[in-house]
Amino acid sequence: MSTSSYEGRHRAPGRHRAPRRGLRVPTGLKAGFILPSAAAAALVVTASGATVADSAPAVFDLAGAGAKAKEAKAQDAKASAFERTEAQQQREAQATAANARVIEAQRIARNAERKAVAKRTAKAAALKKAEDARKAREKWLMPVQGAIFTSGYGWRWGRMHQGDDLAMPIGTPLKAMSTGTVIFAGVQGGYGNKVEIEYWDGTVSYYGHMNSISATVGQKVAPGDVIGYSGNTGRSTGPHLHLEIHPNGGPAIDPGPWLQNKGLQ
Ligand SMILES: [Zn+2]
Repeated sequence: MSTSSYEGRHRAPGRHRAPRRGLRVPTGLKAGFILPSAAAAALVVTASGATVADSAPAVFDLAGAGAKAKEAKAQDAKASAFERTEAQQQREAQATAANARVIEAQRIARNAERKAVAKRTAKAAALKKAEDARKAREKWLMPVQGAIFTSGYGWRWGRMHQGDDLAMPIGTPLKAMSTGTVIFAGVQGGYGNKVEIEYWDGTVSYYGHMNSISATVGQKVAPGDVIGYSGNTGRSTGPHLHLEIHPNGGPAIDPGPWLQNKGLQ
């Protein structure tokens, strides 16, 4: 601080003006020189440090104030650290809660997926079972396995032969070719003992020349069910089964291609 420069700048003729800032110290006074005024004490404290300041009035206890300020600052820091910690804990708690929600959602999704898979598996199993049942229900087989084909569909001896002749010993079990219903069982002209079965797809089979009939009209049959035994009844020249195939109960067709189409011949 330069007194001379101050006075130089503020010198105004005819006016008295108290200095407004700073502490005027006479030239030659050095730090450590104790003045009786309070203002001087402050100067001394500033210059000489805490030891002198301790004995000075509290208001001038600059070091104490500094310590307090330091402490306050530390407390502020502590408080803000605490707040930060609290905020951090809050964020962590929120994150934990969010994680828990995600984990729960994942658990629910997994359970739902497991249930869906189980449901699909059960549905697939049920479908397969139904499909297997349908295949079993709709499968086709020959009335007799290993019979000897002796005569086919077509004109024979001046008359139309409506089916295939399969030679076999009298009393051979005759089986239903698929799932169906017996719609005729009895004696009928040249057929002798005859059984008609209407199958699930509408096809009707005739079995002729049977020795005996073990089925009754209206009886439900499954593929392979025995409905009677082969014979030589009606217009027949030897023990055999006369087999006719009538699609949708209509006119007879050549059984050969029809059987082939079913993988039966
Ligand atoms: Zn015949």
